[in-house]
Amino acid sequence: MAATIKPLALVAGGAGFIGSHLCLALLAQGYDVICLDSLQTARPSNLGSLEGRPGFRFVQHDIVEALPATVTDEAGRLKRIYNLACAASPPQYQADPEHTMLTNVVGTSNLLRLAEKSGARLLLTSTSEVYGDPEVHPQREDYRGWTSCIGPRACYDEGKRAAEALCFDFQRMKRAEVRVARIFNTYGPQMDPEDGRVVSNLICQALSGEDITIYGDGSQTRSFCYVSDMVDGLIALMESDAQEPVNLGNPDEFTILELLEHILAIVPTNARVVHQPLPQDDPRRRRPDIGRAKALLGWEPKVKLDQGLPLAASWFAAELGITRAAAAA
Ligand code: UDP
Repeated sequence: MAATIKPLALVAGGAGFIGSHLCLALLAQGYDVICLDSLQTARPSNLGSLEGRPGFRFVQHDIVEALPATVTDEAGRLKRIYNLACAASPPQYQADPEHTMLTNVVGTSNLLRLAEKSGARLLLTSTSEVYGDPEVHPQREDYRGWTSCIGPRACYDEGKRAAEALCFDFQRMKRAEVRVARIFNTYGPQMDPEDGRVVSNLICQALSGEDITIYGDGSQTRSFCYVSDMVDGLIALMESDAQEPVNLGNPDEFTILELLEHILAIVPTNARVVHQPLPQDDPRRRRPDIGRAKALLGWEPKVKLDQGLPLAASWFAAELGITRAAAAA
């Protein structure tokens, strides 16, 4: 009897924080998965839970370059392309801004061409940063945003806006079927402790007793989504008929000082709190309106901040222990 051929999903950025969780979920759903990642910002250790699993393959590649034959040769079997490839933390995406812009524009174009060739559906992970420092609150998908095309965040937010434009051009011209997720702040296990995000910084600083860095007065807000909710949302969006961008995030909004209070409640510490200057163009408020996701996908986050933070903190504690042991060896 002929073996059943499984559908294939390509996850660009699959070794990253959200990407590695997504690869696991897709394998569990019965897909074979090719994980494409340049490993420029992703941590190879994220592949630990994936490598060796039947149906999983890792290919080290930068999507700015022409896609390798190991991927294009699979076009006949390819059904889904998830594009999560891009540094997402401000210090990391600003370290090589030209590459960030090219990853979003040239990289997305390369993947859209593969979608066109293979007939696979492509999902772009765009970002809440397309709304810039928003003048409307909460942010709905029809708000066109207030970004600066000459500021330090432009390589990322204008890059993602250009990537969205490319996706909808391919859709309008019937060259590929696309879905676009606008991801709001997400946290959980496998976040890079070193990537400078607020959740990882504050938890790791509290755990290690280093100064806790609050940028500005800490009254700026963000809304934090646990990673399992985000992965469920991405898959639901990919499998939906949504023809427009969809916000994915947790609508519970906290100031950064409130986030710190929640963290200190689970990670008691002697660390001092120090205030540092607010980065340029740092958005004042951010909270998704998820009405469209609820209506079109039947999706909303399940994990509250007080449930997710302890899970993230346990993971960071184990991770810091491992890093320290390796450094001491
Ligand atoms: N932030 C902070 N301390 C840190 C890191 C970040 O106060 O150690 C602030 C940052 O200025 C921003 C918010 O926390 O207002 C979220 O920052 P993050 O880099 O996590 O994500 P962003 O939403 O800005 O992309």
